[in-house]
Amino acid sequence: MSTSAHPFAQTRQTFTTASGKSLDFFSLPELAKTYPQIKRLPLSIRIVLESVLRHCDGRKVTQAHVAELAGWLPRASRVNEIPFVVARVVLQDFTGVPLLADLAAMRNVAASLGKSPQAVEPLVPVDLVVDHSVMVDHYGTPDSLDLNMKLEFKRNQERYEFMKWGMQAFSTFGVVPPGFGIVHQVNLEYLARGVHKTPKGRAQAGVVYPDSLVGTDSHTTMINGIGVVAWGVGGIEAEAAMLGQPVYFLTPDVVGFELTGQLREGVTATDLVLSVTEILRQQKVVGKFVEFFGEGTAAIAVPDRATIANMAPEYGATMGFFPVDAQTIAYFKGTGRTRKEIEAFEAYFKAQQWFGVPARGDIDYSSVVCLNLSDVRPSLAGPKRPQDRIDLGDVKAQFASLFAKSPAENGFNQAAERLPLRYGLHALTAPEAVQAAPLAVPVKPGSPRMVVEMVGSRPTLEAAVSAAASTKSLPLAEKGLSLGHGDVLIAAITSCTNTSNPSVMLAAGLLAKKAVKAGLTVQPHIKTSLAPGSRIVTEYLSKAGLLPYLEKLGFNVAAYGCTTCIGNAGDLTPEINAAITGNDLICAAVLSGNRNFEARIHPNLKANFLASPPLVVAYAIAGTVSRDLMTEPVGLGQGGRPIFLGDIWPSSEEIHALMKFATNGKSFQENYAKVATKPGKLWKKIGGAAGAVYEWPASSYIAKPPFFDAFAMTPNAVAAGGSDVHGARAMALFGDSITTDHISPAGAIKEDSPAGAWLKAHGVLKADFNSYGARRGHHEVMMRGTFANVRIKNLMLPALPSGSFEEGGLTLYQLPGTEQGQKMFIFDAAMKYIAAGVPTVVFAGEEYGTGSSRDWAAKGTQLLGVKAVIARSFERIHRSNLVGMGVLPLQFKGTDSWESLGLKGDETFDVLLGDQIKPQQDAVLVVTSSNGKKRSVNLLLRIDTPIEVDYYQHGGILPFVLRQLLAA
Ligand code: SF4
Repeated sequence: MSTSAHPFAQTRQTFTTASGKSLDFFSLPELAKTYPQIKRLPLSIRIVLESVLRHCDGRKVTQAHVAELAGWLPRASRVNEIPFVVARVVLQDFTGVPLLADLAAMRNVAASLGKSPQAVEPLVPVDLVVDHSVMVDHYGTPDSLDLNMKLEFKRNQERYEFMKWGMQAFSTFGVVPPGFGIVHQVNLEYLARGVHKTPKGRAQAGVVYPDSLVGTDSHTTMINGIGVVAWGVGGIEAEAAMLGQPVYFLTPDVVGFELTGQLREGVTATDLVLSVTEILRQQKVVGKFVEFFGEGTAAIAVPDRATIANMAPEYGATMGFFPVDAQTIAYFKGTGRTRKEIEAFEAYFKAQQWFGVPARGDIDYSSVVCLNLSDVRPSLAGPKRPQDRIDLGDVKAQFASLFAKSPAENGFNQAAERLPLRYGLHALTAPEAVQAAPLAVPVKPGSPRMVVEMVGSRPTLEAAVSAAASTKSLPLAEKGLSLGHGDVLIAAITSCTNTSNPSVMLAAGLLAKKAVKAGLTVQPHIKTSLAPGSRIVTEYLSKAGLLPYLEKLGFNVAAYGCTTCIGNAGDLTPEINAAITGNDLICAAVLSGNRNFEARIHPNLKANFLASPPLVVAYAIAGTVSRDLMTEPVGLGQGGRPIFLGDIWPSSEEIHALMKFATNGKSFQENYAKVATKPGKLWKKIGGAAGAVYEWPASSYIAKPPFFDAFAMTPNAVAAGGSDVHGARAMALFGDSITTDHISPAGAIKEDSPAGAWLKAHGVLKADFNSYGARRGHHEVMMRGTFANVRIKNLMLPALPSGSFEEGGLTLYQLPGTEQGQKMFIFDAAMKYIAAGVPTVVFAGEEYGTGSSRDWAAKGTQLLGVKAVIARSFERIHRSNLVGMGVLPLQFKGTDSWESLGLKGDETFDVLLGDQIKPQQDAVLVVTSSNGKKRSVNLLLRIDTPIEVDYYQHGGILPFVLRQLLAA
């Protein structure tokens, strides 16, 4: 479309950079002459408005869309959808591979219909960062990184070959190879370049516009820390975005978050983000933008802002947005962006009047939340949810309290008297009970920076350390090692949330240095790992002279990737696993990550605590969460001297003095230049098929997805008209907070699970199973993994004598016949229902689909024949993914729930929607009990926007987009 045809052509203006270069842009100050309200809009809304304005073509984006968003009101009912065309798309490899598989399958469809396969081609830049596949098999040794990467390449060869095919098949598809870092940190340090310029040959060529993106990872929000509007979407929405479709979302409320004051000495960015998460969870910000402002915001550095933005999924917001200001420009300089890029970035934001952190009263927000930074205290979060923040000084008591509480109270359901018991590894069946002895270490009145007033230590720890040290070559059982409740078995400095933040990484190194100098050690059986989100971290830790001390405590670099954060912690030893499962031990992981849901970190570790990197090191030394690090010593140093946290905690002055090593722009430039020039020997060796169309060689990792098997240019009658569901059976009755990891686990594949059986039947050895996450390119594995999390509880099954419910992906088969009422895997039941032509539904409680954006949670649900999910509430991304796969999300009204309706799972269900589906209309659920009695319940249809109605009627977003592309 020519400029003159643009309905708001007068808003195309020029701005000038510091070097005097004149550039075009679509000016919001100019648009504000028509819509003066714009000047008081939240900055995040203004950035979205620029995209809507620039893409206004009268078809996908209309003048009405511009007018609606320009007239955004802080408090209004939210019924309008915004068509947001993003500047680029970012993928990680777990979600990127299935997306590439879908694109490849779409090319197959194009070719089979006699069209050009190249009709399916990303229209915006797409970057895939390979970060999710590396596991911590080796740790604590200098060659850990090398060995783990070799294993990674061996396990993932077929996936990496497929990526190489994608690199040559699609011209806008780039890959950052394994070993460079974690997607969000790489995005922050390298992929984000400030502003873009529309290339020649496109509509609005030469126009400069701000960066924006969607990513197939929920923590894509991390990039909000540098003023980029972005959030995580499912792979299916990302595919649509990369094929030029707008991302549609309901106009959001924007919560202003005012930060005042400053952090106290010894308090970290991790403590801050855990506090922000706790506060915003209580504020219920799901589906809303959060925008930070105020003098406290202006004072905090960009890495701290990025840490806070990272955890937006944990506080439930769509984004945690920070404005662009002088700190952002300083960050761009310190991370090696070019002068030209920085000048254009700064001048553009100033021309739009978006530069600087707003003060109180500058902006009209939907509501305002305040936090005085000086109120933030040292914290951990857990042991099961990231929003459950605990003051550091309360961790011991909280663990003890939850130990004996019921699962309904988030507890571990244990007899309180078992807490102090310890178990020798060689006596699995007969617990070798050792009662905690009286405190053996003298009381210390105080410490330099942390409040430490009294101390206590279980002598069994020291005994175990010295026994382990003196018999280093013996198997663990013979070293006299014992395990107890609360023992830390995994201590991981992991996750982009923190590894992108030099202040906490340097703090970890400084703490390690002081600890080593004081003579503290880490027990060798604790799985310690350091997995930086980029190589820059290792470089500055080395230059600062801190890496050797971390290594001395076992924190050798194990990988540049997600590792423990995504569940790739690797296994514990068989002896330790047996001791845990044989004695029902509640052992712990402490990690600097952002998620700690059940079975995410390790299937046998039930208590998982999120903490800052220095606290991870401290807890590794302590070896237990049952020690109060505010009042008891972290451990015994030289000569048996008790060492307190305050003795080894670094001061902000010490951290600041080393910060220069982490802000060297040249280092960043040299490092990221290697993505193209030195991608690594292992990556270079990977071959890949050539050609525009993929031939799908036999593989247990990659297979042609079945989503387009019955594709026709016109939606079929069932998808178009058959919205009602008749005669459905219940597949599951779930409780609250069913995560996408429950629905589609990313971690280990159990040998006796349907997916394990399928792999074995196809000649894959147990040792080569890899994880569900790595096998997302293969639907046969993923369907079998759906609802297969080892911790998921289907409450349709009868309660156990203990009152709790059996865990694992099980259901009771309901169709009349010999198998009626039998317990079986959900996958097996699903195949029987599909064979019998019977649809199924899933019932759930609050927050269904919370957790990572995971399109397989929706894809797997669809492939198991589930037609509707009926829940008390839905997480944002999963709800839209269900619609995107043609599965109905329906919500109970008021206080209704499957429990209040007394459902048992043996009923038959009809879902009635009427002829013309409308967004958020009423639906009727007709329940027919086993005795034939019928009753009706009103539900809310959670198809939220008109475009979602289209997606649903086309059988999902992918067939919808493909029909558009092939019709063009
Ligand atoms: S480190 Fe964790 S949060 Fe970050 S991308 Fe990896 S899995 Fe996601």
